[in-house]
Parts: sequence; C-alpha cells; structure tokens
Amino acid sequence: MKTGLLFKYLRPYTGRLLFNVFLRTLSAIFTIVLIVSVAPLLYILFDAGAGAETGTQATGGIANAGIEILESWVNVSMVRFGKPVTLLILSSCLTGAYFMKNLCAYMGLYLFSPIRNRMVAQMRNDLFLKFMNLPLSYYAKQQKGDLISRITNNTQDIDNQMLNQVQEVLVDIVTFVFLVATLFFISVPLSLFVLVLLPVIGMATSFISRSLKRKSRRLQNLNGQISAQVEESLEGMKTIRNYNTTRYAVNKFHVDNNLYYKLNCRLLHRINLSSPVSEVLGTIAIVAILIIGGYLILSEHSLKPEAFITYLLAMIQILPSSKNITTAYFTWQSGKGSLARVKEVFDADEVIVQKPDAKELKSFEHEIALEDVSFSYGEKQTLDHIGLRVEKGKFVALVGPSGGGKSTIVNLIPRFYDPVGGRVTIDGKDIAECRIRDLRDLSALVSQDTVLFNDTLYNNILVGNPGATREEVEHAAKMADAHDFIMQCENGYDSFIGDSGTKLSGGQRQRVSIARALLKKAPILLFDEATSALDTEAENRIMEAIRIEGKKNSQTIISVAHRLSSIRQADEIIVIEDGRIVERGTHEHLYALDGLYHKLCQMQNTANSES
Ligand code: ATP
Repeated sequence: MKTGLLFKYLRPYTGRLLFNVFLRTLSAIFTIVLIVSVAPLLYILFDAGAGAETGTQATGGIANAGIEILESWVNVSMVRFGKPVTLLILSSCLTGAYFMKNLCAYMGLYLFSPIRNRMVAQMRNDLFLKFMNLPLSYYAKQQKGDLISRITNNTQDIDNQMLNQVQEVLVDIVTFVFLVATLFFISVPLSLFVLVLLPVIGMATSFISRSLKRKSRRLQNLNGQISAQVEESLEGMKTIRNYNTTRYAVNKFHVDNNLYYKLNCRLLHRINLSSPVSEVLGTIAIVAILIIGGYLILSEHSLKPEAFITYLLAMIQILPSSKNITTAYFTWQSGKGSLARVKEVFDADEVIVQKPDAKELKSFEHEIALEDVSFSYGEKQTLDHIGLRVEKGKFVALVGPSGGGKSTIVNLIPRFYDPVGGRVTIDGKDIAECRIRDLRDLSALVSQDTVLFNDTLYNNILVGNPGATREEVEHAAKMADAHDFIMQCENGYDSFIGDSGTKLSGGQRQRVSIARALLKKAPILLFDEATSALDTEAENRIMEAIRIEGKKNSQTIISVAHRLSSIRQADEIIVIEDGRIVERGTHEHLYALDGLYHKLCQMQNTANSES
C-alpha cells in the first residue's frame, strides 16, 4: 500500500494530529452553534410567536423540542431585558462563536503546518540517504534529472497534494459529520432522504477520479524525464553546440514539454470538474429538500418553519464541506503518483548492504586478493574467474584493451559492486563480511571522471581528509603537481573553481583529484586512468612521485593505465583482455614475452613517434 509510506512518516506525530483533530472538532462544534443560533434570532426578528396563531405550529420532533428550548430562553430574556438587549446578547454569542470557530481552526493549522514541513524534510533526508546508499548499478539504470525531480518536485507534491489536503479536509470531515447529526436532530425523515441522496452524488462524481491517479503518475514520470533532459543538455552543452544539435535538443524538449502541458491541462480539467459537478448535484439535492421540507411544514405540520430554515442552513453548509472533501479526495489521488515515485526509490534494493554482524577492518597489513572472481553487469560476463594477489606496499598496474574489465576490478575493491562468483579479501577477510565504512576508509580512488565541487581549491582537496592541516593540503597538492598552478590562480588555494571545476583544465582537475586522494593517506590507492588528461611528461612525473611516496609509506597502489610509459616501474603489470588475465609480470618480463603487452607497447611507440 503506497499510502503506508505516508502514514509511516505521520506516525511520530500521532499525538499532535489527534490534538489537531480535537481543535478541528471544536471548530466544527462552533459552526453548528452558529447555525443553530440563527433560529432564535429569526424568532426575535420576525416575532415568530405570531406563527402560533397562523397555524404553522409544528407537532413534534426532537429538533423542534430543542429549538423550543432555545426560544423559551429567548422569551425569558426578552421579558427580563427587552428585545434589543436580547438581540445584543444573541449577536454577541454569535460573534463569540465565530471567533472561537476561527481560533480553533487557526490553532489546528498552527499545529499541523510544522508537522507537514518536518515530515517532508524528513522524507527528503531519508531519500538523500537512500541515494547515498544505493549501489552504482542503480544509477546506471536511472537518469540523474529524474532522481532529482523525485527528491524535489515529488516530495513537494506529496506536501501540496496530500498533506495539505489532510490539513484542509480534516475540518470539513468533522463539520460534515456534525452537520449530518444536526440534520437528523432536526428531522429524521428528511435526513433519511438526504442520506440516500449523498451516496448517489458521491457515485456520480467518482467517475472523475478513476483515471486521475494514472494520469498523475504519467505526468510525474514525464516531469522527471524533462528534468533529466535539462540536466543532460546543460551538462553536454559543449557537445550540443559543437555538433550544431541545438535545434534537435530544443525540439526534443518542446515535444516533452508540450506533452506535459497537455497532460497537465487534462488532469486539471478533471480536478476542476469535480467542484461544479458536485455543486450542481448539491443544488438539485437542496431543491428536492425544499419540496419535501415544504410538504412536512405545510401538510404534515411535523416541522417548524424556523427549524426548517436551520435545516437548510446546515444543508447549505454541508455542500461546501462535501465539495471540499471530494476535491481533496481527487487531489489526494493525483498526489499518489508522486508518492509512488518516491516509494520506488525507497523500495530499490541496496544490493551492497552491510551484514548485521559485519567485522571491523581497521587496518591493511598483508594483501588484497581477488579469489576466482567473476562478475557481470548484465547478461554478458565482464570478469571471468580472476585470481589476483596484491601485497601491501606494491605498485600493481592493470593494462589491456578497452572494455577488458580493468575499471571493474578496481571498483570491486571498495565494494562498489559485489562479485557474482568468488570473493575479494583484504588480509584474508572477505570484504563482504566487513564494515563498509572501514573498508572505504582503507582506500582512496581517483577515477577518470573527476568529481569536483563548486567550492575553493582548498576545500576540494580537503574533502579527502577534513581534519588535515594547511601544510598537509599543500604537501598533497605538491605531490600531485598541483601546487604551482594553484599558486598562479587569483586567490591561490582560496580560488573558486566553478560548477564541477569548469574554471580548470581537464589536467588541472585531475591533479586536484589526485591531491585529494593523497591527502586521505589511505593504505590503498586506486587510480583508474587518473592521469589520462595530463601530458606524458607530467603523468610520468606524478606517477613516479606517488610511487616513491607510496613505497616510503608502504601504500599499495593499483593503477589502471593506458599510457604504458607511466607504469613501467610497477612491481607487477597485469594484462587484462575480455575479462581474463592473459599476462602478468614486470615490464621487462612482459616485453620479452612478445605477447599482448609487447604489442600494446609497440603500438604506443609507433603512435608516439608518428606524433
Ligand atoms: P576502458 O579501458 O575502456 O576504461 P575497462 O577495461 O576499464 O575499459 P570496464 O570499464 O571495466 O573496462 O568495462 C568492462 C565491460 O563492462 C565493458 O564491456 C563495459 O561496456 C561494461 N560495463 C562497464 N560498466 C558498466 C555498467 N555500469 N553497466 C553495464 N555494463 C558496464
């Protein structure tokens, strides 16, 4: 049940919600008081005592008795204080009741508004946490913009279309119940007729709601698609301009945006239709009541005219309440589309989960091992029974043709994915049995796609180790060959780098990312083509500095490289092709083998000499 998610979030506020219901009930009671007080007022104004002589005296009914009690109070008051003072007293009571009705309604709202906001904030917090914990494989299937839309638009819709409706409709439901009770109090036969009529009105309007939920879901999905398109186009702005595909991007956007507008119009038409339909049906009901009520007064003499006026006032009051309830129901239905999209994220499997009895993994002392590891992203096998041991302090390079599975191996070590066969161990402990946080503390990864934040250079490096000193940050930057260019920036380390580091060159971005990883001082460094945007000379210089520093600190380095000159010094080079290890050894050994590695080296030498 999708609404179960909503109730889960509302549960902590049960006490406040009940108090809110109590206040709303009070507000509804005051509404009833207002309606019922009108009869004695009319009695005074039109001197209804004359009615007795005109033969409109009713013969029975609880309501008639109730109204008679009120009228007798009014009579007593008129005798004691006179008509004007009685009118003044009654008017003051009416004003007081109005004031109390609105005060209670306001207090109810005052209590509910923070609940709404806190609930949505909590839902967003939980969604964001879920985003942070979902496996990378989830993101391969989802569009970023669509996910952003779920955490922003859809949670907002849940607030507007569901919680807001709960807030609004609560008073209407309570008023509705009290008013129906009042109707019965005044006239049972008339109310039995109304009781038959109301479900008929309900059924007549329910046809509108049928497709509402489906339409809203489609609309929300489309909204997510539009957000994804905007996000993609903004990110790929250079490519769009360079390939002159602006028109294509704009047209694509227009198509979806127009569809959104049309669907939204259709949805709003449906929602808007609910109000006039229920109003017309309500008016028909009032006319029918007028006819039956008139009959009860004039022919049967079982209803007093002022009681009937009170009845009509209550009925007129019921109509907006029932209309609001209907509208709230429709809007609630359309909000369910958003709730479903949020729930979908909550229900997504966190494939990479920590076992309840997960072990500590505070240090890395001996070796990382991939034991007979197989892996696939989908149908096709990406890694095929890989066996690999990397001793602490060693520098191991993964090389080979594109698509062979090198990055996949690197991603298995911090457990971004779990192998489908075999296991990955650190010091003999299966990493799937260890605490994820401990495991990720042990390694620092720099991938080909640099991830920088719209902040200063200093803060971007500091992400690697928020407790580091300025000296440590600068040392890491020097190691990554970033210090010099940073010092040339306008504000040095305090220079802002723009959205995703757009103010930096590709090579500079990579240097900052490397500095960040080095600052972490993790015992395992994972480089996945981390220097691909640098020139050969800079790449060799940085890799050599890292290698030397790594040896000094007994850091283990696993580096994926395409430019083979940067990994010549590696302790072991692993050649991967089609998910299998085809060669392994030092540069000299592999070169002498005259196999795939030799061929790759020769191809690069030829390319270098040609350029
Ligand atoms: P390159 O040198 O080009 O970076 P690689 O050797 O690092 O390649 P991987 O990135 O590990 O290769 O990819 C291995 C295979 O897995 C490729 O065929 C690739 O298409 C596929 N692959 C990689 N990531 C995903 C993913 N998220 N979803 C599905 N398939 C993937």
